[in-house]
Amino acid sequence: MEGFIIIVSGFSGAGKGTLMKNLLEKYPEDYALSISATSRKPRVGEKHGVEYFFIDRANFEDMIKKNQLLEYAEYVGNYYGTPRRYVENQLSMGKNVILEIEMQGAMKIKRNMPDTKIINIFVSTVDAVTLYGRLVGRGTESIDVIKKRMDRAVEESGIMEEYDYLIINDDLETATTQLHDIILNERNGQAEL
Ligand code: 5GP
Repeated sequence: MEGFIIIVSGFSGAGKGTLMKNLLEKYPEDYALSISATSRKPRVGEKHGVEYFFIDRANFEDMIKKNQLLEYAEYVGNYYGTPRRYVENQLSMGKNVILEIEMQGAMKIKRNMPDTKIINIFVSTVDAVTLYGRLVGRGTESIDVIKKRMDRAVEESGIMEEYDYLIINDDLETATTQLHDIILNERNGQAEL
């Protein structure tokens, strides 16, 4: 049986990356995590092929032309996209693939893959002040970029209802368990059909 796609979106600073890392450390056999390509510059500590495939805009546009991306979007001045081959291979092997992508990309996947089961999960902080505090606290972006990311969060909150589930990432362990439980329930639901 083909695996399904789990889309995890959420405001920048909501802790999606840490949540994904924790989920994969706890349940390494259960999930395949898609690594995106981006034209954004790596942050301190980020490695090519681990957090992202860091490529320049020309190479990214080449991937678009060659239809090598399942979806892509521009986010605060940079390209981000999901390499097609890895996702399709994992799905055909029956693996459930996690895509940690923003909303435009999530909507494209939903439209373009009507025959694949897709679960959409949105991750948020408890409020905007907490979000702002996390973005400033991690110290990886300039204030200008943080402002743009906050603006984007306001836009995104307008289409949150497109998602099947909402997780408030207040406590990492609770959020990880919630995420895993959602996926298990969906899997069991599918098995009963
Ligand atoms: P960051 O720069 O903080 O790593 O990511 C910025 C935003 O881009 C986040 O909302 C993240 O989920 C999103 N993103 C990461 N990879 C992809 C991708 O492959 N496609 C799309 N559409 N969004 C992505």
